[in-house]
Amino acid sequence: MNKSRSESMRLFYALWPDDDTRDALVKLQVHVTGKRSRPENLHLTLAFLGEQPLSLLPALESLMHKLPSEPIALVIDIFGYFRRAEIAWAGPSEVPPPLTELHRSLQEELRSNEIFFDDTAQFRPHVTLARKAAPPATIAFPPLSWQANRFTLVQSTTSPSGVEYRILHELCFRKI
Ligand code: ATP
Ligand code: MG
Repeated sequence: MNKSRSESMRLFYALWPDDDTRDALVKLQVHVTGKRSRPENLHLTLAFLGEQPLSLLPALESLMHKLPSEPIALVIDIFGYFRRAEIAWAGPSEVPPPLTELHRSLQEELRSNEIFFDDTAQFRPHVTLARKAAPPATIAFPPLSWQANRFTLVQSTTSPSGVEYRILHELCFRKI
């Protein structure tokens, strides 16, 4: 590994599913074609940071503690498709205001810390089910309730067996 690589990490923030939600998401994967995400990789991205210097890790972790920290009631009830990326996903048809607020305040914290992240795309909360996928058929499925309470900072690495994610820092949102 060269010097610059070992001193940076590819990072993103995500909501990480609990085991029951993960199992339910895996069941949805039978409805999509292409290269399915590995079960342990399923997540909902909140912000993509890309390569960041290791020295920023303390700031990236501590800003997580400044954000709204209530569990977010998500209802995963639709399949979707990103045509250009050929990604089939599942997500909420209605974005709950607390999720919008978490996303907004995360962006605000990143900006005030002068941390670069990709904010070009409009936020479309989703869980990638498969890549190189065809558009999913419109299949109704029983809406899946996810009390999202695992807020994570994740490292992404690519190995010959595919992408691997490692949770570097995690907050567990609790009801107050
Ligand atoms: P790979 O790129 O190896 O196919 P991946 O896309 O899962 O795998 P990353 O590119 O590291 O891995 O992305 C991590 C997460 O961030 C994924 O959920 C991905 O969809 C999301 N992501 C990646 N790039 C962006 C981007 N430019 N804007 C928003 N989200 C992104
Ligand atoms: Mg990618």
